[in-house]
Amino acid sequence: MAQTTPNHTQTVSGWAAHDTSGKITPFTFKRRENGVNDVTFKILYCGICHTDLHYAKNEWGITNYPVVPGHEMIGVITKVGSAVKGFKEGDRVGVGCLAATCLDCEHCNDDQENYCEKLQFSYNGVFWDGSITYGGYSSMMVADYRYVVHIPENLPMDAAAPLLCAGITVFSPLKDHDLVSSPGKKIGVVGLGGLGHIAVKFGKAFGHHVTVISTSPSKEAEAKQRLGADDFILSTNQQHLQSARRSLDFVLDTVSAEHSLLPLLELLKVNGTLFIVGAPDKPLQLPAFPLIFGKRSVKGGIIGGIKETQEMLDVCGKHNITCDIELITPDRINEAMERLAKNDVRYRFVIDIAGSSNN
Ligand code: NAP
Ligand code: ZN
Repeated sequence: MAQTTPNHTQTVSGWAAHDTSGKITPFTFKRRENGVNDVTFKILYCGICHTDLHYAKNEWGITNYPVVPGHEMIGVITKVGSAVKGFKEGDRVGVGCLAATCLDCEHCNDDQENYCEKLQFSYNGVFWDGSITYGGYSSMMVADYRYVVHIPENLPMDAAAPLLCAGITVFSPLKDHDLVSSPGKKIGVVGLGGLGHIAVKFGKAFGHHVTVISTSPSKEAEAKQRLGADDFILSTNQQHLQSARRSLDFVLDTVSAEHSLLPLLELLKVNGTLFIVGAPDKPLQLPAFPLIFGKRSVKGGIIGGIKETQEMLDVCGKHNITCDIELITPDRINEAMERLAKNDVRYRFVIDIAGSSNN
């Protein structure tokens, strides 16, 4: 049953999962009236992140059904609250994973609200008014303007949508490790999916030597020819792994399922960093030897702050970076989810929300 909260009077059509089968069906629910700090926008496109799949099937054990997934939503503003700054009706905007934070802790004050302890996500979260948040697999969004970003005019909205989660999630660690403005490093990207393919594009745009580390032999030609990767390591091939030992400065791990960290750590030079953004449901084993013999670090991170998300979008505007997408109508969400689970997507499904008949 959809919850009811006073002031939530706007009827919205969307798509939700209702149980661990993860099956998505049309779902009607309520959103709040546009408040003084809110913008309302018509959602045109929404990416399908692997996180949506983890939630739809309750793989992390934290899903509250019904869940309306989607945190890569993009559209056009139809209403602006009286206290909103920097946005007007007609603007092309996006919302990613964040719906609310405390706005007052050290992380919020440092533009890293993604590390706020009171952070609430744009779906399966609880907003300030106590309502459950529903995501972007829906026809319209009401969002506090502090979690809304502008989409550069030169970027097509459908292919830009996945930047709102996948893009910022891989941009933020690159920025943190001085890999956005200092070229010439050797970086590895593990898992060539939604996150991974954007990481490759960023790595090349920022002047690095990029190696893709993948379980899929069929992705080698695409990685090199389409995405511009310099090298390709098949992670099931011991010889490939051996010959690349101690060659990389930084490795970004985007893998969504259980996998071994040992070979990835051994790819790093002394002092290198393995940065984990993929979120498998089972714990990964951390072997001590490659850490101590190589003074290597393992870190993780979640998305990025809103200011950084805007910066990332502006960088994408400047370099014309968008995602390689497969556009689908909402009636094909289940098919897309099944294909995503089978690692059969090049490289992000995006739902054409406004093109649906459900509006
Ligand atoms: P995706 O499109 O499915 O890509 C994941 C890639 O991982 C696949 O394309 C595949 O690449 C590789 N892979 C899949 N299963 C594997 C296995 N069993 N062993 C080794 N490699 C495997 O997913 P995504 O949308 O990019 O998301 C990736 C992960 O990041 C998910 O767990 C998601 O929840 C998480 N995520 C985290 C954040 C954050 O803030 N930290 C944000 C967004 C998403 P190859 O075919 O090349 O091997
Ligand atoms: Zn995501």
